[in-house]
Amino acid sequence: MKITDIRTHRLEVPLAHPLRISLGIVTHAISCLVEVVTDDGIIGYGEGSPGPLITGENLAGTVATVEMLRDKLIGTDPRDIEAVNAIMSRSVAYAMTAKAAIDIACHDILGKSAGLPLYKLLGGFSGEIETDMTVGIDEPGKMAALAKKHADDGFDTIKTKVGTSFSDDISRVKAIREAVGPDVKIRLDANQAWHGKEAVRIIERLSEYDIELVEQPVPRYDFDGLKFVTDNSPVPIMADEGCWDSKDALRLVSEHAVDLINIKLMKCGGLHEAMKIVHIAEAAGVECMLGCMAEESGIAINAAASLGAAMKNITRADLDASFSLAELPFDGGFSIKDTRHLILSDEPGLGISGLKPWVLS
Ligand code: MG
Repeated sequence: MKITDIRTHRLEVPLAHPLRISLGIVTHAISCLVEVVTDDGIIGYGEGSPGPLITGENLAGTVATVEMLRDKLIGTDPRDIEAVNAIMSRSVAYAMTAKAAIDIACHDILGKSAGLPLYKLLGGFSGEIETDMTVGIDEPGKMAALAKKHADDGFDTIKTKVGTSFSDDISRVKAIREAVGPDVKIRLDANQAWHGKEAVRIIERLSEYDIELVEQPVPRYDFDGLKFVTDNSPVPIMADEGCWDSKDALRLVSEHAVDLINIKLMKCGGLHEAMKIVHIAEAAGVECMLGCMAEESGIAINAAASLGAAMKNITRADLDASFSLAELPFDGGFSIKDTRHLILSDEPGLGISGLKPWVLS
């Protein structure tokens, strides 16, 4: 089997609820959807979703990189995942979003070719995964009302964005805890907003509201600060922007700098690299979460959910971005049970049968 073409489709659609985080605001799903076409008729679907606030990439650059990589990959067997990733690595540095789109599509082809759903091919620990639901930064009352609605709808973990000011963050988390009651888990994400001692001080105060974990309290490059917070926080600390790939993961666990790691396919460049992070973390006794970019539209979330379900050491998921879309840009993929459980398709690969006509036009 050989790759004969890689087609790109630009997607830019407004979110039902714009998401404000400490770094800025996300208003649209933004994606480069790809079709990796093969000489025996199998098409693999992938998605590269640039998150300008997190990865610094944009849609035009992602499309251009995928088109450049297409020329390098034509003639390669897409099932040779290590070879595909090696060609991409030596063709362009960084550009993880474009690489993720192609890596996901090649895994889809691998599953289709083997006649197996991707979650079975990747490990098969489970065929489903439970996601949280995220509440963006807003006035405390509005955040509490939204959190309550999500909890009433069936989500039992609410992820809350924080990181603007000490007093506002306390008011937000207090209001949410009072609204959802004691049985709903609350996890926080500061998106790099604090520095070491400041982070410890505010997390100690926020811990009064029974917090499950805090994501990325300090700037992404501040490994020492992250370790300081982890060593001194009463709440488990998770690396997100501070863990891009397996090399970051190795450093973080070697230095005991985190309790948990949040993996995103758009940070690490796809499933191939994500599995390395999971294995490094598992060897160190560090559990992982599978996350997504707020800009994603669902194909990459199907891939992330497949990996999350497949591997025992992925114990949490934050795969809620496609809930904000009025219509998904594809047919097939996972189904949803009891609001929060993503049930993976038992069709081969990602189980995606095609892109919607409005994407192709
Ligand atoms: Mg995060």
